[in-house]
Amino acid sequence: MTRAFITGIGGQDGGYLAERLLAEGVEVHALAHEQEPLPEAPGVELHSGDLTRVEEVRALLLDLAPDEVYNLAAISSVARSWGQPDLTAQVNGTAAVALMESALQVQEKRGSRVRLVQASSAEIFGQPDVTPQDESTTIRPVNPYGAAKAYAHLSADVYRGRDLHVVSAILYNHESPRRPATFVTRKITSTVAALATGWDGRLTLGNLDARRDWGWAPDYVDALVRAARADVPGDFVIATGVGHSVRDFAAAAFRRAGIDDWEGLVDSDPGLVRPADPSELVGDASRAREHLGWAPTVDFEELVGRMVDADLGR
Ligand code: NAP
Ligand code: GDP
Repeated sequence: MTRAFITGIGGQDGGYLAERLLAEGVEVHALAHEQEPLPEAPGVELHSGDLTRVEEVRALLLDLAPDEVYNLAAISSVARSWGQPDLTAQVNGTAAVALMESALQVQEKRGSRVRLVQASSAEIFGQPDVTPQDESTTIRPVNPYGAAKAYAHLSADVYRGRDLHVVSAILYNHESPRRPATFVTRKITSTVAALATGWDGRLTLGNLDARRDWGWAPDYVDALVRAARADVPGDFVIATGVGHSVRDFAAAAFRRAGIDDWEGLVDSDPGLVRPADPSELVGDASRAREHLGWAPTVDFEELVGRMVDADLGR
């Protein structure tokens, strides 16, 4: 039986990944971080810990000797990374690389292949010169989150050089009803649902012109599993290839909720505009299509619709 180890189990992707692996009959172990809210995934064996406590995590990994390791733990909010750049560097950067070293030690100890997937991010490209971006796009992050993810991303290649199967999955924004409202998509859908059900307030956003490539989170989790099991490890952009602005997202959400005259309900607060914010991140996932047989299954309108419906249902 395949044994997997997941970090970041309490997050959006961790829950979907655990459900997916359990359904396949995989034995799932996970690092449970402090007060992290845990998914409803009976069957996951939880081990409390913190990714930055490198020696403890290494001892745990050597003990479990998993076949697949999925590193999803992160300070995943760019906005938060500006306030905690040092912690972001530790969790998203050095601790991720330490996990690669631990996986290599497991592989050497047990004498058979360990497969590690690192959740990288489009933010490693910062303010790119080209759209869409692919695996060859220049790495030039513009915020502490992207810089820390870039360090782990580059280290994946270092560990491939040491014969570890490490995939760096360059994930573009992916969303679901499980996304916290600290991210713009869920902030929009939860506020629109409140407005549609009688709340007398306003939707206050920052940069309405930023363009992102938003996909459906379970599709991206599917890509992570395919990447772990690929014949040859490498870097893979995981994206839909279609960009929309924050304004487009708001418009689609209001449409779904049946509110036509929405523009007067939205404000842009300069205080919510970031010190540096990529204006357009859209990915070309051709390599993942070709080598992993991966493709997104949910388009933009459907994604927004599912999130709005879930918030109306709440
Ligand atoms: P998420 O919901 O924020 O989940 C991340 C999890 O990591 C949280 O449950 C968090 O627990 C945990 N964590 C933080 N610090 C930790 C530590 N020191 N030790 C152990 N666990 C720790 O993120 P997500 O949306 O599922 O994303 C999964 C991964 O994909 C992340 O690495 C993210 O950066 C990357 N990614 C996501 C997107 C996206 O659009 N979702 C795009 C690109 C890349 P606490 O709450 O206790 O801190
Ligand atoms: P990110 O791409 O991982 O940083 O995901 P977010 O959902 O936090 O932000 C996506 C884009 O929406 C960025 O360009 C933000 O600047 C922009 N944005 C505009 N208004 C808001 C807001 O009120 N909250 C957040 N989180 N982002 C906003």
